[in-house]
Amino acid sequence: MVTTKECIELENQFGAHNYKPLDVVLTRGSGIWVEDVEGKKYMDFLAAYSAVNQGHCHPRLVKVLQEQSSRLALTSRAFRNDQLPFLAKELCELTGFEMMLPMNSGAEAVETAIKAARKWGYTVKGVEKDRAEIIVCAGNFHGRTTTIISFSSDAQYKDGFGPLTPGFTLIPYGDARSLIKAINKNTVAFLVEPIQGESGVVLPQEGFLREAAELCKQNNVLLIADEIQSGLGRTGTLFAYEHENVKPDVVIIGKALSGGMYPVSAVVSSREVLGVFNPGDHGSTYGGNPIACAVAREALKIILEEKLIEHSAELGKYLIGELRKINSPHVDFYRGKGLWIGIVLKKEAGGARRFCEALQEKGILAKETHENVIRIAPPLVISKAEIDQALVTIKDILSQN
Ligand SMILES: *Cc1c(COP(=O)(O)O)cnc(C)c1O
Repeated sequence: MVTTKECIELENQFGAHNYKPLDVVLTRGSGIWVEDVEGKKYMDFLAAYSAVNQGHCHPRLVKVLQEQSSRLALTSRAFRNDQLPFLAKELCELTGFEMMLPMNSGAEAVETAIKAARKWGYTVKGVEKDRAEIIVCAGNFHGRTTTIISFSSDAQYKDGFGPLTPGFTLIPYGDARSLIKAINKNTVAFLVEPIQGESGVVLPQEGFLREAAELCKQNNVLLIADEIQSGLGRTGTLFAYEHENVKPDVVIIGKALSGGMYPVSAVVSSREVLGVFNPGDHGSTYGGNPIACAVAREALKIILEEKLIEHSAELGKYLIGELRKINSPHVDFYRGKGLWIGIVLKKEAGGARRFCEALQEKGILAKETHENVIRIAPPLVISKAEIDQALVTIKDILSQN
């Protein structure tokens, strides 16, 4: 049997250090539970950044993955397969859009949306060649490609990786007035997370998305919602934009689209927008492969059939209510929607990392984001009893001096 120490040493020696994970080495998972190589069990309160909304190793996903991988795994898009058409149809029906384009990682889907918006700008809106602008928000997280980091407001994401891709304008998150000012004749899209996950579960001011949608419409600008982390039930609705009753022009989906079983992402939109792509314009060898599509179809069915959206709304309300009852010297406030909660610590608390390490010690895995926020995002299959069990530990840790 391998040990935690051995795994960490090997990874440190042979793996690039582009992450600073908690020192826990996991070897199996089921539902909200994961187990390390020494056999210690933990509740997973991160759910792989909401990729594992359906719970670890969901038996239905395991079955579909096994069956599909032993039948047909990859054709490339040079040929067709019998899974992609059905995922396309089911995803469009579920989301109320006309077309979809499949990719693998979230960042690739964001890149796809950027390319679609630019080409739409040139071919439909009539923007002058190479002048398209996309407005984005401070505090954004849309992935790690060179183009995407070009419009990050986090200096570390960009430092050392230039030259950067031009064509992006940053505005403060949640500020409709800045959006009005930033829009000009070359603006093709406003790319936004309805709730910012990596920034620490940050909710914009109420009404912001509604106003933004209105402004986009008035100015013939595409509203692109990055729902990679906020979508598919996490906030208690299928998509977080539903809280503001808006309909974006383009929605980017990833993470829970496969329930953590496989990298699958997609862009959904209208025929007018996704219709700009002609054969050869864009693609991916693995994008839309039969395993990805079969797994995604099942992952979507699980969300609906197990009522994970309703469950997230209900238990999320309960969890944040119970957290707010904790008398903690360290917590400034709690914010969130559904089973997605940011515990914002006071400056004097000394950072979120030590609380995450204390939680780990007591069997709960959560991850700090941006120094002073503990993000709470368990798989949506969590039961009320499991939440109550976790609350005992969380209360214990947050109320200690
Ligand atoms: C995770 C995430 C991405 C990037 O997805 P990857 O699969 O890591 O490339 C993009 N946008 C948001 C909002 C995310 O949370």
